[in-house]
Amino acid sequence: MSEYCDKGWKAQLADSRLSADALSRRFSLDPDVCTRVIDRYPVAVTPYYLGLIQSVDDPIGRQCLPDLLELQDSPDLLQDPLGEEAHHTVPGVVHRYRDRVVFLVASRCAVLCRFCTRKHRVGTQELAQASADWTAGLNYIAAHPEISDVLLSGGDPLLLSDDQLDHLLTALRAIPHVETVRIGSRVPVTLPQRVTASLVKVLKDAGPLYLNTHFNHPRELTPEASRACGLLADAGVVLGNQTVLLRGVNDDTETLRRLFKGLLRIRVRPYYLHQMDLVQGAGHFRTRIEEGLALMRELRGPVSGLAIPQYMVDLPGGLGKVPLTPDYLRKVGDVTQIEAPDGTLVTYPNNCGPGGTE
Ligand SMILES: *Cc1c(COP(=O)(O)O)cnc(C)c1O
Repeated sequence: MSEYCDKGWKAQLADSRLSADALSRRFSLDPDVCTRVIDRYPVAVTPYYLGLIQSVDDPIGRQCLPDLLELQDSPDLLQDPLGEEAHHTVPGVVHRYRDRVVFLVASRCAVLCRFCTRKHRVGTQELAQASADWTAGLNYIAAHPEISDVLLSGGDPLLLSDDQLDHLLTALRAIPHVETVRIGSRVPVTLPQRVTASLVKVLKDAGPLYLNTHFNHPRELTPEASRACGLLADAGVVLGNQTVLLRGVNDDTETLRRLFKGLLRIRVRPYYLHQMDLVQGAGHFRTRIEEGLALMRELRGPVSGLAIPQYMVDLPGGLGKVPLTPDYLRKVGDVTQIEAPDGTLVTYPNNCGPGGTE
């Protein structure tokens, strides 16, 4: 099948940059608005992902088409919401937690998500430079025996060539203390044609690998995406998914339920549901934390636990990720009560068994 050879995905990428002119013609958007947004935040969408859009403001269109709201700056929002640039040890390596690093090894993405946490870096010369030479990053990781988990990100690492990936993964595997290698990639969602037989072979040879992808809506669960995930899973790549909770895209129980259940069908385990970061130019995607907690509460119980990710907020300033969980516990004096999935308050005997202390 020609669309699943190198030529297929490379042609998709070559066609992904969209001009204001092309956008306004295809979606009847105001050309002036497109130009103003694109001047600040470029637009790229693969022809495949473009084909999933039914209307400009549907859940796919909202994720990738320019919107005037992107130009509304707010003092609460930040260019670098996770303080990553301050945590760069060497260019391209973010070492925030003791045992693991994010290693930015690519600067491009197949689709430029309007809500991207690195909206201000992806596609820039600065990130292109930071991610171009891996020597300093590899040396840093090799010199720090406490690092056992390396998370490849960018940009999208699966847009590297097969040879580049092979080289990088081989170099990482040669560092004895690196036990876990993870890849963060939206390619299964936005460019599933990239998952070719030769890519899969490179990944299989470097295994075991963990790959977290990024589906946000059940409409992204196409036969092409399913095929890509199936090939990866067959090669022993352990697949997880990080969804961003996005206003107007997936902020309702039914959409999340269909997304998370659908992911299990294509062999992907929901890992995190991210509270939308405080990204300048993407404030219109944010929901309140209370809404996220209410969604988690509605899912837990009716929906298989295997389909339920952890709801996470990544704190500004690089202070780290924190899980947010609905509170089911009520303490009334000495009495402990726990709220059941149907809302009933159950008094729970909260003492240790024989031999324990009160
Ligand atoms: C998110 C993140 C990780 C990975 O966190 P996990 O909770 O282990 O998935 C590692 N380093 C940085 C800097 C991160 O932002």
